[in-house]
Amino acid sequence: MNYSQRRLPLMFRWPRIDQHILNLIYPAVCPVCQQLSSSWKYSPLCQDCWKDITRMPTRCCSACGLPIPAYYHQGDTTADGDRDTILCYDCSQLEKIYISIRSAALYQHEGTLRAALLAFKHGRNLSLVKPLTLLLSEQFRETMALRADELVVPVPLHWSRFLYRGFNQSYLLAKALTKMLPLRLVNDALIRIRRTPPQAGNVKQRRKNVANAFKVKIKKRIKAKNILLIDDVMTTGATLTECAKVLKAAGSAEVRAFTIARVIPSGLYE
Ligand SMILES: [Zn+2]
Ligand SMILES: [Zn+2]
Repeated sequence: MNYSQRRLPLMFRWPRIDQHILNLIYPAVCPVCQQLSSSWKYSPLCQDCWKDITRMPTRCCSACGLPIPAYYHQGDTTADGDRDTILCYDCSQLEKIYISIRSAALYQHEGTLRAALLAFKHGRNLSLVKPLTLLLSEQFRETMALRADELVVPVPLHWSRFLYRGFNQSYLLAKALTKMLPLRLVNDALIRIRRTPPQAGNVKQRRKNVANAFKVKIKKRIKAKNILLIDDVMTTGATLTECAKVLKAAGSAEVRAFTIARVIPSGLYE
């Protein structure tokens, strides 16, 4: 006889309804502002913090995801179906574009999203996976065309960093995203073979920092497949570009990336 949870009467299926009921009895404390969160949808974030996150605009560079104001015309503009391909100045100067990166929201210093991501990653508050993935999936639907055949690949951590932290934040987000969108997760295709110091410096230094840090472990998993890389924060795109180069060299088709947050260089367009 199968005693799996699916067969138990409703009253015993507590893990499925816990979030809603527990939140009514013991409202979660928002890890960003310490208010009580009355929302079950994006708990433990409170409504104020959820609304305070600055979503990325839809008009962004097709390669690096930098927001591009309507008045700014630079680089090539070609028709790509009914979506225009727009490139920012830096990307229009590149010889080859390996990846198309988009992000859900803006990473602002002193901002709500930064505080939530720090509480998740460094404070190990795993209850934040739910609202962060909700943000990811909502903005994904808004800005990216869904490709059913695409494989979701989280940016891997080096094993030593994984042991230290106890989890890979990109894996948790990617896994939760595949439960919200009809996409398939492949976790063991790409590995990080070299421990890299925390990313700092300009694009050139960051690219050097991550060079040869990744390897495709199981080539047949990604051969001729479209890939969607998932990461938490995109700063210069050096890590994601390096992952895309390695994946393409191993035979994958198109590589896109989606991150929760994106850092925008200060003073841009001012
Ligand atoms: Zn809050
Ligand atoms: Zn760009």
